[in-house]
Amino acid sequence: MIKTRKKGYLIVISGPSGAGKGTICSSLLKRNEKLIESVSMTTRPKREYEIEGTDYFFTTKEDFERKISDDYFLEFATVHNNEYYGTPRKDVEDKLKAGYNVILEIDIQGAIKIKEKIEDALYIFILPPSMKELKNRLVKRGTESEEKILARFKTAYQEINEINKYNYVVVNDILEDAVAKVEAILVAETCRVDRIEELDVGNMEEVIHEDLIK
Ligand code: 5GP
Repeated sequence: MIKTRKKGYLIVISGPSGAGKGTICSSLLKRNEKLIESVSMTTRPKREYEIEGTDYFFTTKEDFERKISDDYFLEFATVHNNEYYGTPRKDVEDKLKAGYNVILEIDIQGAIKIKEKIEDALYIFILPPSMKELKNRLVKRGTESEEKILARFKTAYQEINEINKYNYVVVNDILEDAVAKVEAILVAETCRVDRIEELDVGNMEEVIHEDLIK
């Protein structure tokens, strides 16, 4: 039996707010045991349904800024309305070392910062089927004020220009189709030769001998 040992790799999934990257990531994580998500830290208020340590680590601006000085984050960004969001460096490194493929579901500024440091990560951009649908989704979600929704919508228009920095783009029209496309990308990525760390094809002499006995 040919055995391969593969390095875990980083999967950066981003796209405008409302494109549905969170829902896509949840489905991927349920179906693939080699995948794990990095848990980000943020200063934005916790939503009622969110769980500390699972959805985010929630903290204060002071603590976040202290952690920035301590080089605690792999990347961080001020996303909407001056709230900080950041990826804890150690969490990602530990998960990669444990052999997981680690998903970062982050905004576009953060993805670009990671791209400057880590060239061999996989960069996937999630698009909504249309800008009108994006606006509907942001409104329907009902978690933000009208002013915040408008800010997210305007940012989305500018962010789409960054798409050429990514490796793949997936339009999230029908959720199951979008998940299947991302899974196909991951299968291809896992088969890349440069992801192999060790290849064991067995001992040639033993194999020749076995064949002769038959
Ligand atoms: P939300 O407030 O809706 O949970 O997230 C707002 C945006 O922040 C989303 O686009 C989300 O992907 C992004 N985000 C979440 N965590 C991080 C992070 O660690 N770093 C960066 N740069 N963006 C993040």
